[in-house]
Amino acid sequence: MRKQKTIKGEAIFEGVGLHSGRKVKMILKPAPENTGIVFIYNDDKNKEFIPFSVDFVTDTKNNISLSNGRAVIKTVEHLTSALFSLNIDNCIIEINGKEVPILDGSAREFVTKILEIGIENQAADKPEFIVITPIWVRLEDKFIVVLPYNGLKINYTISFPNSPIGMQNINFEYSVENYIKNIANARTFGFIEDLDNYTREGLILGANFENVHVFSKKENRCINNSRYDDEPVRHKVLDLMGALALLPFELKGYIISYRGGHHIDIAFVKKIMEFYSSAYPERKAKSNKTQPAFYGNFNFLEDSIQ
Ligand SMILES: [Zn+2]
Repeated sequence: MRKQKTIKGEAIFEGVGLHSGRKVKMILKPAPENTGIVFIYNDDKNKEFIPFSVDFVTDTKNNISLSNGRAVIKTVEHLTSALFSLNIDNCIIEINGKEVPILDGSAREFVTKILEIGIENQAADKPEFIVITPIWVRLEDKFIVVLPYNGLKINYTISFPNSPIGMQNINFEYSVENYIKNIANARTFGFIEDLDNYTREGLILGANFENVHVFSKKENRCINNSRYDDEPVRHKVLDLMGALALLPFELKGYIISYRGGHHIDIAFVKKIMEFYSSAYPERKAKSNKTQPAFYGNFNFLEDSIQ
Protein backbone atom coordinates (compact mmCIF):
# COMPACT_ATOMS: atom_id res chain seq x y z
CA MET A 1 0.00 0.00 0.00
CA ARG A 2 1.43 3.40 -0.88
CA LYS A 3 1.24 6.59 1.15
CA GLN A 4 -1.17 9.41 0.34
CA LYS A 5 0.23 12.51 -1.35
CA THR A 6 -0.53 16.19 -1.74
CA ILE A 7 1.19 19.09 -3.48
CA LYS A 8 3.92 21.13 -1.77
CA GLY A 9 2.55 24.59 -2.57
CA GLU A 10 0.01 26.46 -4.62
CA ALA A 11 -0.33 26.18 -8.39
CA ILE A 12 -2.25 28.86 -10.30
CA PHE A 13 -3.88 28.35 -13.69
CA GLU A 14 -5.68 30.93 -15.78
CA GLY A 15 -7.52 30.41 -19.03
CA VAL A 16 -10.89 29.92 -20.67
CA GLY A 17 -13.33 27.05 -20.23
CA LEU A 18 -13.73 24.81 -23.30
CA HIS A 19 -17.53 24.91 -23.24
CA SER A 20 -18.27 28.27 -21.59
CA GLY A 21 -15.48 30.26 -23.26
CA ARG A 22 -15.28 32.24 -19.99
CA LYS A 23 -12.01 33.25 -18.39
CA VAL A 24 -11.33 31.67 -14.99
CA LYS A 25 -8.62 31.57 -12.35
CA MET A 26 -7.98 28.32 -10.53
CA ILE A 27 -5.67 27.69 -7.57
CA LEU A 28 -4.56 24.22 -6.48
CA LYS A 29 -3.66 24.05 -2.78
CA PRO A 30 -2.23 21.36 -0.51
CA ALA A 31 -4.68 19.45 1.69
CA PRO A 32 -4.27 17.25 4.79
CA GLU A 33 -4.41 13.46 4.45
CA ASN A 34 -7.84 11.87 3.97
CA THR A 35 -9.31 15.04 2.48
CA GLY A 36 -9.59 13.75 -1.06
CA ILE A 37 -9.99 16.21 -3.92
CA VAL A 38 -12.34 19.08 -3.15
CA PHE A 39 -13.44 21.85 -5.49
CA ILE A 40 -14.34 25.22 -4.03
CA TYR A 41 -16.40 27.49 -6.21
CA ASN A 42 -15.63 31.00 -5.03
CA ASP A 43 -16.94 34.05 -6.89
CA ASP A 44 -16.31 36.43 -3.94
CA LYS A 45 -20.03 36.48 -3.13
CA ASN A 46 -20.65 32.75 -2.73
CA LYS A 47 -18.43 29.89 -1.68
CA GLU A 48 -19.49 26.33 -2.40
CA PHE A 49 -17.68 23.10 -1.55
CA ILE A 50 -18.00 20.32 -4.08
CA PRO A 51 -16.18 17.08 -3.29
CA PHE A 52 -14.75 15.26 -6.31
CA SER A 53 -16.90 12.19 -5.73
CA VAL A 54 -19.04 10.11 -8.05
CA ASP A 55 -22.12 11.11 -6.02
CA PHE A 56 -21.59 14.71 -7.14
CA VAL A 57 -21.19 13.99 -10.86
CA THR A 58 -24.20 15.53 -12.55
CA ASP A 59 -23.38 15.66 -16.25
CA THR A 60 -21.32 13.45 -18.57
CA LYS A 61 -22.19 14.98 -21.94
CA ASN A 62 -18.92 16.05 -23.59
CA ASN A 63 -17.37 16.64 -20.16
CA ILE A 64 -17.57 15.58 -16.52
CA SER A 65 -19.47 18.14 -14.42
CA LEU A 66 -19.83 18.22 -10.66
CA SER A 67 -22.54 19.94 -8.66
CA ASN A 68 -23.71 20.20 -5.07
CA GLY A 69 -27.11 21.49 -6.24
CA ARG A 70 -26.07 25.16 -5.98
CA ALA A 71 -22.81 25.48 -7.90
CA VAL A 72 -21.53 23.60 -10.95
CA ILE A 73 -17.94 22.96 -12.04
CA LYS A 74 -17.57 21.67 -15.60
CA THR A 75 -14.80 19.87 -17.50
CA VAL A 76 -12.86 18.63 -14.48
CA GLU A 77 -11.52 15.49 -16.19
CA HIS A 78 -8.18 16.66 -17.63
CA LEU A 79 -7.14 18.20 -14.32
CA THR A 80 -8.24 15.13 -12.34
CA SER A 81 -6.43 12.88 -14.83
CA ALA A 82 -3.22 14.78 -14.07
CA LEU A 83 -3.83 14.48 -10.30
CA PHE A 84 -4.60 10.76 -10.63
CA SER A 85 -1.52 10.06 -12.72
CA LEU A 86 0.76 11.86 -10.24
CA ASN A 87 -0.93 10.10 -7.27
CA ILE A 88 -2.16 13.38 -5.75
CA ASP A 89 -4.86 12.15 -3.37
CA ASN A 90 -5.48 15.30 -1.35
CA CYS A 91 -5.92 18.67 -3.01
CA ILE A 92 -8.12 21.74 -2.74
CA ILE A 93 -9.06 23.36 -6.02
CA GLU A 94 -10.40 26.86 -5.69
CA ILE A 95 -11.96 28.30 -8.83
CA ASN A 96 -13.73 31.60 -9.53
CA GLY A 97 -15.83 30.29 -12.43
CA LYS A 98 -17.92 27.33 -13.50
CA GLU A 99 -15.40 25.48 -15.63
CA VAL A 100 -11.80 24.30 -15.30
CA PRO A 101 -9.60 26.10 -17.87
CA ILE A 102 -8.97 24.01 -20.97
CA LEU A 103 -5.41 25.39 -21.52
CA ASP A 104 -3.96 23.41 -24.47
CA GLY A 105 -6.70 20.73 -24.39
CA SER A 106 -4.45 18.13 -22.74
CA ALA A 107 -3.13 17.52 -19.21
CA ARG A 108 0.37 18.79 -20.05
CA GLU A 109 0.28 22.12 -18.24
CA PHE A 110 -1.31 20.64 -15.11
CA VAL A 111 1.38 17.94 -14.92
CA THR A 112 4.24 20.36 -15.60
CA LYS A 113 3.18 22.86 -12.96
CA ILE A 114 2.44 20.24 -10.29
CA LEU A 115 5.88 18.68 -10.84
CA GLU A 116 7.46 22.16 -10.54
CA ILE A 117 5.63 22.82 -7.24
CA GLY A 118 6.54 19.36 -5.95
CA ILE A 119 4.69 16.44 -4.42
CA GLU A 120 4.64 15.62 -0.72
CA ASN A 121 4.25 12.20 0.88
CA GLN A 122 1.82 12.07 3.77
CA ALA A 123 1.66 9.64 6.69
CA ALA A 124 -1.66 7.95 5.92
CA ASP A 125 -1.94 4.93 3.62
CA LYS A 126 -3.93 5.09 0.40
CA PRO A 127 -6.40 2.21 0.48
CA GLU A 128 -6.27 -0.15 -2.50
CA PHE A 129 -8.67 -2.43 -4.29
CA ILE A 130 -7.23 -5.46 -6.03
CA VAL A 131 -9.62 -6.75 -8.66
CA ILE A 132 -10.15 -10.51 -8.30
CA THR A 133 -13.19 -11.00 -10.49
CA PRO A 134 -14.13 -9.21 -13.74
CA ILE A 135 -16.30 -6.11 -13.31
CA TRP A 136 -17.91 -4.67 -16.42
CA VAL A 137 -20.44 -2.26 -17.86
CA ARG A 138 -21.99 -2.53 -21.32
CA LEU A 139 -24.01 0.26 -22.92
CA GLU A 140 -25.28 -0.33 -26.46
CA ASP A 141 -22.16 -0.99 -28.59
CA LYS A 142 -19.72 0.19 -25.90
CA PHE A 143 -18.19 -1.75 -23.06
CA ILE A 144 -15.58 -1.44 -20.36
CA VAL A 145 -14.27 -4.25 -18.17
CA VAL A 146 -11.58 -4.64 -15.54
CA LEU A 147 -9.78 -7.96 -15.07
CA PRO A 148 -7.37 -9.11 -12.36
CA TYR A 149 -3.87 -7.67 -12.86
CA ASN A 150 -1.06 -6.72 -10.53
CA GLY A 151 -0.74 -3.09 -11.63
CA LEU A 152 -2.85 -0.76 -13.73
CA LYS A 153 -3.08 -1.37 -17.44
CA ILE A 154 -5.53 0.12 -19.94
CA ASN A 155 -6.30 -1.31 -23.35
CA TYR A 156 -8.44 1.19 -25.24
CA THR A 157 -10.08 0.99 -28.67
CA ILE A 158 -11.93 3.78 -30.46
CA SER A 159 -13.76 3.56 -33.75
CA PHE A 160 -14.81 6.50 -35.90
CA PRO A 161 -15.60 4.90 -39.27
CA ASN A 162 -15.55 7.06 -42.40
CA SER A 163 -13.27 9.59 -40.78
CA PRO A 164 -9.53 10.25 -40.68
CA ILE A 165 -9.46 8.87 -37.11
CA GLY A 166 -10.79 5.43 -38.07
CA MET A 167 -9.99 2.68 -35.59
CA GLN A 168 -7.22 3.15 -33.02
CA ASN A 169 -6.01 0.93 -30.20
CA ILE A 170 -3.51 1.47 -27.42
CA ASN A 171 -2.22 -0.80 -24.68
CA PHE A 172 -1.03 1.46 -21.89
CA GLU A 173 0.84 0.20 -18.84
CA TYR A 174 0.44 2.86 -16.17
CA SER A 175 3.44 4.45 -14.52
CA VAL A 176 3.98 8.14 -13.83
CA GLU A 177 6.73 8.27 -16.48
CA ASN A 178 4.61 6.46 -19.09
CA TYR A 179 1.70 8.81 -18.48
CA ILE A 180 3.86 11.93 -18.83
CA LYS A 181 5.46 10.64 -22.03
CA ASN A 182 2.53 8.94 -23.78
CA ILE A 183 -0.78 10.31 -22.45
CA ALA A 184 -0.47 13.74 -20.82
CA ASN A 185 0.10 15.65 -24.09
CA ALA A 186 -2.86 14.19 -26.01
CA ARG A 187 -5.42 16.89 -26.72
CA THR A 188 -9.19 16.75 -26.79
CA PHE A 189 -10.39 16.23 -30.36
CA GLY A 190 -13.35 16.89 -32.60
CA PHE A 191 -14.64 17.13 -36.15
CA ILE A 192 -14.97 20.52 -37.79
CA GLU A 193 -18.27 19.35 -39.29
CA ASP A 194 -19.79 19.03 -35.78
CA LEU A 195 -18.89 22.58 -34.82
CA ASP A 196 -22.26 24.19 -35.65
CA ASN A 197 -24.26 21.57 -33.74
CA TYR A 198 -22.14 22.00 -30.65
CA THR A 199 -22.19 25.79 -30.63
CA ARG A 200 -25.98 25.73 -31.14
CA GLU A 201 -26.17 23.68 -27.92
CA GLY A 202 -23.97 26.25 -26.17
CA LEU A 203 -21.00 23.86 -26.09
CA ILE A 204 -17.31 24.36 -27.01
CA LEU A 205 -17.62 28.16 -27.08
CA GLY A 206 -13.96 28.33 -25.91
CA ALA A 207 -12.62 25.92 -28.53
CA ASN A 208 -9.93 26.98 -30.98
CA PHE A 209 -7.09 25.44 -32.97
CA GLU A 210 -4.77 25.90 -29.98
CA ASN A 211 -6.79 23.73 -27.60
CA VAL A 212 -8.56 21.14 -29.77
CA HIS A 213 -7.11 18.58 -32.16
CA VAL A 214 -9.39 19.15 -35.15
CA PHE A 215 -10.24 16.69 -37.93
CA SER A 216 -12.22 17.12 -41.15
CA LYS A 217 -14.36 14.18 -42.28
CA LYS A 218 -15.01 15.82 -45.63
CA GLU A 219 -11.34 16.38 -46.39
CA ASN A 220 -10.34 13.16 -44.60
CA ARG A 221 -7.48 14.84 -42.75
CA CYS A 222 -6.29 16.35 -39.53
CA ILE A 223 -6.40 20.16 -39.70
CA ASN A 224 -3.84 21.07 -37.02
CA ASN A 225 -0.66 19.13 -36.35
CA SER A 226 -0.80 15.86 -34.42
CA ARG A 227 1.36 15.33 -31.35
CA TYR A 228 1.11 11.53 -31.77
CA ASP A 229 -0.12 9.45 -34.74
CA ASP A 230 -2.84 8.03 -32.52
CA GLU A 231 -3.47 11.11 -30.39
CA PRO A 232 -7.29 10.62 -30.13
CA VAL A 233 -7.13 7.18 -28.46
CA ARG A 234 -4.44 8.51 -26.11
CA HIS A 235 -6.75 11.35 -25.14
CA LYS A 236 -9.50 8.82 -24.39
CA VAL A 237 -7.12 7.09 -21.96
CA LEU A 238 -6.44 10.52 -20.41
CA ASP A 239 -10.20 11.09 -19.98
CA LEU A 240 -10.74 7.62 -18.49
CA MET A 241 -8.01 8.25 -15.93
CA GLY A 242 -9.73 11.54 -15.06
CA ALA A 243 -12.81 9.46 -14.15
CA LEU A 244 -10.81 6.78 -12.30
CA ALA A 245 -9.59 9.59 -10.03
CA LEU A 246 -13.09 9.46 -8.50
CA LEU A 247 -12.22 6.15 -6.83
CA PRO A 248 -11.12 6.82 -3.24
CA PHE A 249 -8.62 3.94 -3.44
CA GLU A 250 -5.91 2.62 -5.76
CA LEU A 251 -7.27 0.26 -8.38
CA LYS A 252 -5.19 -2.74 -9.37
CA GLY A 253 -6.53 -4.23 -12.57
CA TYR A 254 -6.39 -4.51 -16.35
CA ILE A 255 -9.05 -2.31 -17.97
CA ILE A 256 -10.30 -2.97 -21.48
CA SER A 257 -12.42 -0.20 -22.95
CA TYR A 258 -14.16 -0.36 -26.31
CA ARG A 259 -15.64 2.88 -27.68
CA GLY A 260 -15.73 4.39 -24.20
CA GLY A 261 -16.56 7.93 -23.16
CA HIS A 262 -17.43 10.00 -20.10
CA HIS A 263 -20.86 8.44 -19.64
CA ILE A 264 -19.76 4.80 -19.54
CA ASP A 265 -16.59 5.73 -17.61
CA ILE A 266 -18.75 7.12 -14.80
CA ALA A 267 -21.09 4.09 -14.87
CA PHE A 268 -17.97 1.91 -14.57
CA VAL A 269 -16.64 3.91 -11.61
CA LYS A 270 -20.03 3.48 -9.88
CA LYS A 271 -19.92 -0.27 -10.51
CA ILE A 272 -16.44 -0.58 -9.03
CA MET A 273 -17.56 1.44 -5.98
CA GLU A 274 -20.39 -1.06 -5.44
CA PHE A 275 -17.95 -3.98 -5.53
CA TYR A 276 -15.54 -2.19 -3.23
CA SER A 277 -18.25 -1.32 -0.73
CA SER A 278 -19.44 -4.92 -0.52
CA ALA A 279 -15.87 -6.27 -0.32
CA TYR A 280 -14.84 -3.79 2.39
CA PRO A 281 -17.99 -2.70 4.23
CA GLU A 282 -15.86 -1.30 7.06
CA ARG A 283 -14.05 1.02 4.63
CA LYS A 284 -17.20 2.04 2.80
CA ALA A 285 -16.85 5.60 1.64
CA LYS A 286 -19.11 7.91 3.59
CA SER A 287 -19.72 10.02 0.55
CA ASN A 288 -23.25 11.20 -0.03
CA LYS A 289 -24.93 14.48 -0.81
CA THR A 290 -23.91 16.11 2.47
CA GLN A 291 -20.64 14.43 3.41
CA PRO A 292 -17.15 14.68 1.97
CA ALA A 293 -15.84 12.39 -0.72
CA PHE A 294 -13.07 10.67 1.12
CA TYR A 295 -12.86 9.27 4.63
CA GLY A 296 -12.03 12.35 6.63
CA ASN A 297 -13.90 15.57 6.86
CA PHE A 298 -12.98 19.01 5.68
CA ASN A 299 -14.25 21.15 8.50
CA PHE A 300 -10.75 22.63 8.53
CA LEU A 301 -11.54 24.26 5.23
CA GLU A 302 -14.14 26.52 6.77
CA ASP A 303 -11.42 28.09 8.92
CA SER A 304 -8.46 28.00 6.57
CA ILE A 305 -10.07 29.33 3.42
CA GLN A 306 -11.97 32.51 4.09
ZN1 LIG B 1 -11.04 15.05 -22.70
